Amino acid sequence: LQDKLNKAIRTLKGKDRISDINVAATTKEVRRALVDADVNFKVAKEITDKIREKALDQKILIAVEPGQMFVKIVHEELTALMGGQAEAINIKGDPAVILIAGLQGSGKTTFSGKLAYMLKRQGRQVLLAACDIYRPAAIDQLKVLGEQIGVEVYSEPDSKNAVSIAQNAVAHAKKSGKKIVIVDTAGRLAVDEVMMQEVENIKSSIKPSEILFVVDSMTGQDAVNTAKTFNERLNFDGVVLTKLDGDARGGAALSIRQIVDKPIKYISTGEKMEALDSFYPDRMASRILGMGDVLSLVERAQQAFDEDEAKRINAKMRANKFDFNDFLGQLQQIKKMGNVKDLLGMIPGMGSAMKDMEIDNDSFKPIEAIIHSMTPKERENPDVIDGSRKKRIAGGSGTSLQQVNNLLKQFDEMRKMMKKMNTMEKMGKLKVK
Ligand code: GDP
Ligand code: MG
Repeated sequence: LQDKLNKAIRTLKGKDRISDINVAATTKEVRRALVDADVNFKVAKEITDKIREKALDQKILIAVEPGQMFVKIVHEELTALMGGQAEAINIKGDPAVILIAGLQGSGKTTFSGKLAYMLKRQGRQVLLAACDIYRPAAIDQLKVLGEQIGVEVYSEPDSKNAVSIAQNAVAHAKKSGKKIVIVDTAGRLAVDEVMMQEVENIKSSIKPSEILFVVDSMTGQDAVNTAKTFNERLNFDGVVLTKLDGDARGGAALSIRQIVDKPIKYISTGEKMEALDSFYPDRMASRILGMGDVLSLVERAQQAFDEDEAKRINAKMRANKFDFNDFLGQLQQIKKMGNVKDLLGMIPGMGSAMKDMEIDNDSFKPIEAIIHSMTPKERENPDVIDGSRKKRIAGGSGTSLQQVNNLLKQFDEMRKMMKKMNTMEKMGKLKVK
């Protein structure tokens, strides 16, 4: 999308005002780009119509570069369309019940575990209820997750009645002092009547204060149709977009929000229990615009490590002074935080660079070795690293010249993206708390 957008914007570059003609051409490009990012065609058209109006309205502001202003308008518009603010889930009742629904394989069970883990870390007493009685391994899957995160799982392995399991789970929570019950349900490969009826019955028997619809963001247009059907039957409260760690561009977020008019509340970005984030419309707008999700990364980093360190790194990123020492420090922290690939995908420029690579924590050994072989001066200012220094570093770290070159190139790209984001932020395009 970024490429297409850049191309669209180039049309505007050099012109000192936004005229009708180039706005029309640019909005058309933006529309095509949105459709490429999995945004529903009708939705994309509505969006670009609005953007065009706004862009034409702002003709007077000839002082700013029109191309950048156009991006700013697109970003603001996408943010507003996705709800503007992050929305929390409703936790009401004793115990509060959260019902999880969606198709099979969408990521319900994984998400149930992640949500339980998140709530537990907030100091809440949580119970997981295993109400998928169709897949033989479903109960075990939830039990394994429960064990991993230290949350009790309620199940009845011999029961064939999901409604009564859900009711019993709620009663069990009350008895054992659990304040929140997360009810993981079954899903079919496609929407079917039996499944819909069952979730509806569970809903009316345990009266959840929050119903979350879980949807795989990789399914593109289908995601929208499934969301529509589930919403008609369940009138859910919020959406969870999963598998955003893959190639999905997030266009589904826009379409779902537009078509069912329900807020997206969480995004799931990996198989690890830590890989769950609240949904922030402005960050998703940036992601859709192909800029990477640095803010989420910084936020998750803050949870996992020393807040001062995060602040220091954030400040350096903003001052365009991020160096190899910071990079090395972050690598160490990242290794503690969960799946490395999920996290790297959020760094602008890194996602695409590493897309086809197999990455695990061991993959960092050569990178770390390279950085360790740099002098303090080189780490602070990589620009001084010339050919002979590269050779020395490669020799010292037992890597090849090419590996050193690659790392320097990626690092440079990363810094460029950070710089770009900083500039846009100064223009007010990205709002940061
Ligand atoms: P359910 O059938 O809806 O309960 O789906 P599961 O929770 O069992 O997930 C189906 C598959 O998707 C499993 O292999 C999960 O590990 C995987 N999965 C779930 N969420 C994510 C995610 O956010 N990212 C990735 N990459 N995989 C996920
Ligand atoms: Mg499941």
